[in-house]
Amino acid sequence: MLAAVCHGAKDLRVEWVPDRPLAADEVRVSVAYGGICGSDLHYYHRGAVGDFALREPMTLGHEISGTVIEWGSAVQGLEAGMKAALDPSRPCRTCYHCRAGRSNLCTNMFFLGSAGRFPHVQGGFSQHLVLREDQIVPVAPETDLLQLSVAEPLSVGLHAVNRAGPLLGKRVIVTGSGPIGLLTARSAALAGAAEIVCTDIEDAPLTVALQSMGATSAINVRSDPEALDAYAKTGGHFDVAFEASGSQPALLSLFGVVRRGGRIVQVGMLPPGLAAIPVNLLQSREIELVGAFRAHDEFRLAVQLITQGVIDVRPILSGTYALADATTALERAGDRSHVVKLHIALSEPA
Ligand SMILES: [Zn+2]
Ligand SMILES: [Zn+2]
Repeated sequence: MLAAVCHGAKDLRVEWVPDRPLAADEVRVSVAYGGICGSDLHYYHRGAVGDFALREPMTLGHEISGTVIEWGSAVQGLEAGMKAALDPSRPCRTCYHCRAGRSNLCTNMFFLGSAGRFPHVQGGFSQHLVLREDQIVPVAPETDLLQLSVAEPLSVGLHAVNRAGPLLGKRVIVTGSGPIGLLTARSAALAGAAEIVCTDIEDAPLTVALQSMGATSAINVRSDPEALDAYAKTGGHFDVAFEASGSQPALLSLFGVVRRGGRIVQVGMLPPGLAAIPVNLLQSREIELVGAFRAHDEFRLAVQLITQGVIDVRPILSGTYALADATTALERAGDRSHVVKLHIALSEPA
């Protein structure tokens, strides 16, 4: 099968890789579409994501959907050709965190297309893929597989909202309106937030935020750097902030606009190393700063919300490239003035 394999910074090759045999509890799928994520872009541009650096060639991709091909002897209930959402998380199911219902924190996780462990976990930008049975979420035959591939980033937004606590009637700010920021805003709207302010440094994603993702107002913090000040005047306007840009200035700005006792959820990934935060404000204003990492049960919820038409992900779909053009797709995916999310067609027409 063909796969988009990253050999290092700016070195992506579409090349043949061997299919591997199935274990009894595994399923082979044909991957239909793969969404390009910020982490794929970091591997492609820098050869690393946060503290995870490439030490061997790795197939990228973890936002995928596909169809079932074959399965091991212990798997029941599948049919060849069945459409499915594909969960990129393969937790151990036995460690403390897995048993506590927080499998995203698993200490022995295999997450698709991640250099977090060695050998790396090969990703989903490949024509075929072998997953454990519980990573396969079958869906109805009429499901749109391109939209379904957004289940993973949507699950990250839903998980961030779960980390925030109840949002009914709350005032929310989301800094950074990339796919994760937008899907977090949409998830916050679903959870009942009364006010949702989205920020970015580009106008294009802010338009999507306002038109389709539940934002009640949008601020371009590059062209209007003082606009957030109004929210700081009263001593902090927002009950909850989601930092989805991965930028240190954005995180800092939140300590002024979140009310006393409010919560900041860090869902964006900052560059490796230390980030300064005003600890005295955190302490004296009892601001809670919590992390949100990937998702667990929210993946199945995301599949449901997409297939039932509760959340329409089409506004973030910006185009699909053939596998042979994967490098072009990764180059263009970084153009945030025009693109929200690009996809690669692995076995479907682009
Ligand atoms: Zn992703
Ligand atoms: Zn575990």
